[in-house]
Amino acid sequence: MDKNDTIFGKILRGELPSERVYEDDKVLAFKDINAAAPVHILVIPRKHLVNLFDVEMDSEEDKALVGHIMAVAAQVAKEQGLEESGFRLVLNNGAGVGQTVFHMHAHIIGGRDLSWPPG
Ligand code: AMP
Repeated sequence: MDKNDTIFGKILRGELPSERVYEDDKVLAFKDINAAAPVHILVIPRKHLVNLFDVEMDSEEDKALVGHIMAVAAQVAKEQGLEESGFRLVLNNGAGVGQTVFHMHAHIIGGRDLSWPPG
């Protein structure tokens, strides 16, 4: 089986549609199909990494990629008008914490009250 035979692998290859908001040679950002907030965008690397546990400490390429995902997230959040209200960046790492798609992705979430801790 293709190691990247995930929904996001298919989106990267254009086999599934997505509402793209940003892309470059390293990452793609698109709207989450089941938005948890007025702004809910996913940033994914083109390289298939399952999650942060797949990032090797001695891989400068992978560590730069993680940094790039964060920089892109901030730029996309700005473009989405979240600079004043702020945004939350979520990376689920493992099924035990709710990861359902096994291609690393950072959730940009914002546009509503996300005060922490809740309540
Ligand atoms: P996680 O639970 O962290 O693995 O997040 C997976 C996210 O992918 C969820 O928020 C889903 O709503 C989202 N998702 C699943 N399929 C698609 C799709 N085809 N296009 C956009 N987002 C999707």
